Amino acid sequence: DIPVIAIDGPSASGKGTVAALVARALGFHYLDSGALYRLTALAAQRRGVALDDEAALAQLARNLDVRFEGGEIWLDGERVSDELRTERIGNGASKVAALPAVRTALLERQRAFRQAPGLVTDGRDMGSVVFPDAATKIFLTASAEERAQRRYKQLMEKGFDANLSNLLEELSERDARDAARSVAPLKQGADAILLETTHLSIDQAVATVLACYQA
Ligand code: C5P
Repeated sequence: DIPVIAIDGPSASGKGTVAALVARALGFHYLDSGALYRLTALAAQRRGVALDDEAALAQLARNLDVRFEGGEIWLDGERVSDELRTERIGNGASKVAALPAVRTALLERQRAFRQAPGLVTDGRDMGSVVFPDAATKIFLTASAEERAQRRYKQLMEKGFDANLSNLLEELSERDARDAARSVAPLKQGADAILLETTHLSIDQAVATVLACYQA
């Protein structure tokens, strides 16, 4: 069986950074599942599809022309990694992610990333829905203020304009929507290990995940 390490948690918790580093340490593949929801929202925006047109969005999700390569993401042959990180697209992602048909459309695409020697993945339902047999399940979080800071830093580094208090508000709104939805709501699974990173460095968080996997 090909092992999976599933890292779920709220937005901007740092789970993507940690997951990618754990994957590198183990020589495993890495899947950023949130990117698939973000790509669906971006594709919808570009094609003028409304964010509540469930059937059209599911169709878009199923047919995404996407390429993940060297930490970059391409949609329809165009590099979109930076645009995907904006809160506008994150918010759109959270809207399309509440639609059951969209989640179903992305299910097999996500499972296809499970390839030898192993997979590290991050999202909201990696341990509960997509890879329920994951070897290690982590719920990685941090305080809302710390998460807003982390996203702020990330956006500034990419040259985007950002406002800390707006970000805090947007992240809180998005988490509330993700937690309230009827399908795959954001919450710590009963079998997931809680990793609270407000006062941890990235290296400490990575070491903790590796220790949980190797235990
Ligand atoms: O993790 P990230 O912030 O990139 O995710 C963007 C949005 O996609 C989340 O707010 C959430 O609504 C949705 N998502 C999801 N399930 C996942 C990953 C992301 O519903 N596995």
